[in-house]
Amino acid sequence: MSDLATRLIRPELADLVPYESARRLGGDGEIWLNANENPYTHEYQLDCSRFNRYPEFQPPELITRYAEYAGVTAEQLLATRGADEGIELLIRTFCAPNQDQIILCPPTYGMYEISAKTNIVGVTKVPLGDDYQVDVDGILKAVETSKSPVKLVFVCSPNNPTGHDMQPERITALLDALRDEALVVVDEAYIEFSAQASVLNLLSQYPNLVVLRTLSKAFALAGIRCGFTLANAPVIQQLAKVIAPYPVPEPVAQVATEALSKDNISKVQQEVATLNTLRAKFADVFTPLTQVYPSSGNYVLCRVPDALKCMTAMAHAGIILRNQSKQITLQNCIRVTIGTEQEMTRTIAALSQYLKESS
Ligand code: PMP
Repeated sequence: MSDLATRLIRPELADLVPYESARRLGGDGEIWLNANENPYTHEYQLDCSRFNRYPEFQPPELITRYAEYAGVTAEQLLATRGADEGIELLIRTFCAPNQDQIILCPPTYGMYEISAKTNIVGVTKVPLGDDYQVDVDGILKAVETSKSPVKLVFVCSPNNPTGHDMQPERITALLDALRDEALVVVDEAYIEFSAQASVLNLLSQYPNLVVLRTLSKAFALAGIRCGFTLANAPVIQQLAKVIAPYPVPEPVAQVATEALSKDNISKVQQEVATLNTLRAKFADVFTPLTQVYPSSGNYVLCRVPDALKCMTAMAHAGIILRNQSKQITLQNCIRVTIGTEQEMTRTIAALSQYLKESS
């Protein structure tokens, strides 16, 4: 007889494969380039004098600073436990279980699908088309022909794991066509690494635009779990009804607020520039040797002769990468997060060695 939890779990979740998160993987690599983390760390001081109190629902100084950083108003912003909570919250707020649909455009970030599944929300996949761009006609056709309402369309730009920026004209085409019908969620987790402008300047024109942001990537704060959902006030108000009562713990608020100081923002911009230089160098080395996807994130996707063997060879050299082979069209593709200069020197040497031995 199976254990109690196995008997009690909701049947639709029994076979759910959880997200393969960075630390869940275990193992004893020395160089972790599997989760698009930022290799740099910064020092922060904590003031514990308010730790006996519940925190502010939305810490005002944090909201003021992020609103200024992003160029939006405080009413257009909700701080969450990472961008992942924003994804989950959008689905829980707008999609009825067993009824509504989301659209996503694979190959892309895995949590859109997992959050939909855990909330019994249908998923329609409209794969990225030429040049890994969103297939606007395909999405609109899917919305039109769907038997159940499509409430959310997820677009990731720069896209994880391919690295492509989504063409702004395609995003505006979606926003225009779905204006009265569905929210278009543009996930800008990696926007600081991109040369392309954010779509946030479209917020005043589109009631159906939602943007996801995070401090996990450019700000090097994946460990504190702080993200932001940005949209017009009516959307934010609905989300604020559903989110947990204290979404931003006091220590998180303190660190995040300090991270958004003018001085730290300029430090972050310098570090992003350094990482982008290392990304260009990595791409230059491997482009003549194998297929390297152009990237606007802090990672590069490459096709190798055999992804499993490559992962193993790299792990022997102490370097942990991410195998993306299960994603549509990405067979034998590995994703390499950009680390420090020393980490990249070792990674370039080990990957060159693997490619030489497998040719
Ligand atoms: N969106 C994308 C595209 C991501 O790659 C990630 C994390 N890898 C997230 C959202 C979630 O970020 P957070 O750490 O803020 O939850």
